[in-house]
Amino acid sequence: MLFKALVEHFEKLEATTSRLAMIDILVHLFSETPPNLMDKVVYLTLGEVYPSYVGLEVGLADKLVLRAVVLATGIPDLKVEQEYKALGDSGLVAEKLLSTKRKATLFSQPLTVEKVYITLEKMCRISGEGAQDTKIKLFAGLLTDSTPKEAKYLSRIVSGRLRLGVAEMTILDALAVAYGGSRELRDTIERAYNITSDIGLIAKTLAEGGIDAVKNIKIAIGRPIKPQLAERLSSLDEILEKLNGRCIAEYKYDGLRIQAHIADGAVILFSRRQENITEQFPDIVEALKKCVVANEAILDGEAVPVDPNTGELLPFQVVAQRRRKYDIERYAEEIPVTLFLFDILYLDGEDLTVKPYLERKKLLESVIKETDRVKLAQYIVSGNPEEIERFFHKSIEEGTEGLICKSILPNSIYEAGKRGWQWIKWKRSYRSEMTDTVDLVAVGAFAGRGKRAGTYGALLMAAYNSDKDRFETVCKLGSGFTDEDLAKLPEMFKPYLINHKHPRVESSIEADYWFVPVIVAEVIGDEITLSPMHTCGFEAIRPKSGLAIRFPRLVRFREDKSAEDATTTTEIIEMYRMQLKTIEETTPTDTA
Ligand code: ATP
Repeated sequence: MLFKALVEHFEKLEATTSRLAMIDILVHLFSETPPNLMDKVVYLTLGEVYPSYVGLEVGLADKLVLRAVVLATGIPDLKVEQEYKALGDSGLVAEKLLSTKRKATLFSQPLTVEKVYITLEKMCRISGEGAQDTKIKLFAGLLTDSTPKEAKYLSRIVSGRLRLGVAEMTILDALAVAYGGSRELRDTIERAYNITSDIGLIAKTLAEGGIDAVKNIKIAIGRPIKPQLAERLSSLDEILEKLNGRCIAEYKYDGLRIQAHIADGAVILFSRRQENITEQFPDIVEALKKCVVANEAILDGEAVPVDPNTGELLPFQVVAQRRRKYDIERYAEEIPVTLFLFDILYLDGEDLTVKPYLERKKLLESVIKETDRVKLAQYIVSGNPEEIERFFHKSIEEGTEGLICKSILPNSIYEAGKRGWQWIKWKRSYRSEMTDTVDLVAVGAFAGRGKRAGTYGALLMAAYNSDKDRFETVCKLGSGFTDEDLAKLPEMFKPYLINHKHPRVESSIEADYWFVPVIVAEVIGDEITLSPMHTCGFEAIRPKSGLAIRFPRLVRFREDKSAEDATTTTEIIEMYRMQLKTIEETTPTDTA
């Protein structure tokens, strides 16, 4: 197939903004394309060489495109640069200069799609020393053989700026029209795309084998599946109604969506947008190798940073930094992430996306041996609004964003790439802030791990209930310590160490060490939340719930204060009520 034919369609596509007109042009293009070239034609139309999950691009910067133009035309650098300044687009420069001059070659031949594609593939794969020069030479070779129009589009493809305005969904529409046109065909084609993320593969399979061949396209390890997405509702009643009265209510972790592909001990991780992010998470890769009892599996989950000392979840921003840090190994040790798995899409040759959610859950639980780094997402199966609400507050207190309520009906299949009513998020509609610090008493501690081995990893902190003369726990404090603070902790607490919980301490959490309540620390947190784990303000606001400080950080130790000078339970309850009041004033539709 001549590249010229493809370029003629590019020109027409570029000249229209109408989606229907685009579909017509694409249908015509597909009718002129030999079936075995359909994948390549589709990738090139999207300005790509491979499906994006492969992560290979030509990536030739404008400056390098211009150098190739110099090589192909023999026009001096300076002149080419002047043109670039005037036109601002390396594609237009290539087009203009090639129409005025090109190097005479004896063997100039019309470009074919095959030749273009093979050359672009080579350019994508070159790496190491001298790669740039080789890329420029290969590209200059293509320019030498191309017409000015071809040069324009080639330059845009190699610099990643083709932008014909054709979306992947438009290509799927055009494929459906070109091969039969029915709604059912469109759905089949889209599903195949959603389970493979490879639009070229779908186009080629359709052209070569028809719709039956597309129906037979299978999930494969190494090809990301587009993630299922959730709708949102703001009240639990509406959610339960949508889900037929009963659902899986699952923690909604605030992290990074990860799809893990595991085959014979090898692991690939994909992001929500199907980028290969395996190298960013060596810790998760290692953990998955050990904890999956299957030869092949595709798992869906959310990676969340955890405080290695308290085991508590940390704000998502901490994991976002990992993308930018070069020293990933070190970072993995300092701020480990835990992958919370909630779904399984494929297991030892079997496509599980067609199975209902409860069945997938059972299979997931049967193949995962939990570790610190890989855990199963917490959930309950319930139709009881009070129970779900309690679970919601527990999830918030433990550092999540709320719940995702998921259908457990017989038709609750995994809808790849779809946002639907099978999954409904129930997030807090507000984010309140704790504006003031509190003074809390250390009543216990947890043994440190990793860098904190030998000292305490976190302290169990309490507020003072002056009515009952009791210290009631309100958070685990593991953040905000300097190395110096940490080193001196055991020495500092030695005089107060006892081997049982102090009688004035109310705690339902088991600490590794217990103290006489003496040492006071000033602490700031993000906000005060309801908590079934802590005893501070227990049942003052809600049955079976106390209050907790979310994401607490040490400000300083307050040697000037005695334990009885600490912030009281009543003050914490009051702070919580103030928070709610501020929220009500700013968000009248608040749900939680
Ligand atoms: P979306 O991903 O739905 O486009 P978004 O990026 O704004 O929206 P949210 O609205 O916060 O994200 O919620 C959806 C995301 O929540 C999912 O894509 C997933 O990354 C994350 N998530 C956390 N826990 C779960 C869970 N248990 N089940 C499904 N998704 C979860």
